[in-house]
Amino acid sequence: MALKECDNLRHRREQALTACCMAAAAEADLALQPARRAAMLMDCLAVLRAAHPAADAAQWGMGDFRRALRGPLALLLPATTESDDGLGTLCLFDEDGLVRDALQDLCREHLVPQVALDRHWSWPRLRAEQEERRLYEILRRLDPHEYRRARALLAESPAGPVRELRRAWDQLWMRFDFFEAVSDWPWCHLDGWWYPCPTCRWPMRVVRRAGEVEVRCEAHRARGVHYRLSLEPVAAGAAPLLVGTGSASDPVVGLPASTEHLALSRPVWRYGVLPTLLEIELRDRLQGLEHVQVEMWPGELRPDEYDLKITLSPPGRRTSYFRVDAKAWESVDGLARALLEREPTPYPLIILLPNHQEHEVEFLKERLAGRRITVTTLKRLVARIEKAAGGVR
Ligand SMILES: [Zn+2]
Repeated sequence: MALKECDNLRHRREQALTACCMAAAAEADLALQPARRAAMLMDCLAVLRAAHPAADAAQWGMGDFRRALRGPLALLLPATTESDDGLGTLCLFDEDGLVRDALQDLCREHLVPQVALDRHWSWPRLRAEQEERRLYEILRRLDPHEYRRARALLAESPAGPVRELRRAWDQLWMRFDFFEAVSDWPWCHLDGWWYPCPTCRWPMRVVRRAGEVEVRCEAHRARGVHYRLSLEPVAAGAAPLLVGTGSASDPVVGLPASTEHLALSRPVWRYGVLPTLLEIELRDRLQGLEHVQVEMWPGELRPDEYDLKITLSPPGRRTSYFRVDAKAWESVDGLARALLEREPTPYPLIILLPNHQEHEVEFLKERLAGRRITVTTLKRLVARIEKAAGGVR
């Protein structure tokens, strides 16, 4: 297939995906007036039709669209003859008919802005790479000391009472305008309270299904951060109690979901906080290993290029360097495209994914073939370096 045609098909698949994500969000928003929801779905369907060759498009009715939205997306996306991009097997709803947690991120990572949809949405106007760039442009304006401080704060203070945040962020507070009021995020409210994840400290999602209430961190659910609402009564005016149901469900206490409580915006959490936590975990796992030196956030000139430099100098062998850039995108296909659009780095780069994306490592490697980029997970990289260093602490 000619390159241009291939780009065009990719663009149309992403255009269709954008329409599907927005339609799923409209379906899932219970607060929406029925007439408004119907208007949104009509506009999504129009965008979807426009993404398909004329002959296919005529067949799509609203009923077909809404039914197909609940299955794997292959049916709704323009057919591809290219190697699989993984989008066809995506599902936007789970087996209980609830919309998937990371819908907004998925949309942002494949976003094709649509004039027809503009009037309905405020959230995903910018593509993920633009959000990521905006964050790193602000970080890059800081001096190296402040830059490292800001990276540490992303991990330590991403949400909480405004007074505490202001104190923690201190000098950086006015320069870092990425906080939003938790009161504006109904998805994390439980009877007027919100619960920070014990791992990332960002608000956890509250999911109601068949009479049960589940509270879970979208990013750390796979690592066992999930809870259910306790049946024990609580005193009037106190936060409902949660019972841990996962292996990493440390006790959490509810905080008032008021305008006095803020959290970093969702894109900053996903593209700033989560990779920072991954880097810190990598550093901690390598701590104390003989012949291994880890430098955090050393890229003072171009801080967005890599976050962590590992120097491995086993006695009698050549010193080797690992430059690591952690990523926590929902869609590795979206991540691949963003990385390919970036200028190649003059040194080999390691893209570090969370362990739960292990099954996507090969796919991403294939997409990045020809670049000086290796792809690995935290677990794999730690094992590799431990082995190379002789495993002595
Ligand atoms: Zn979390």
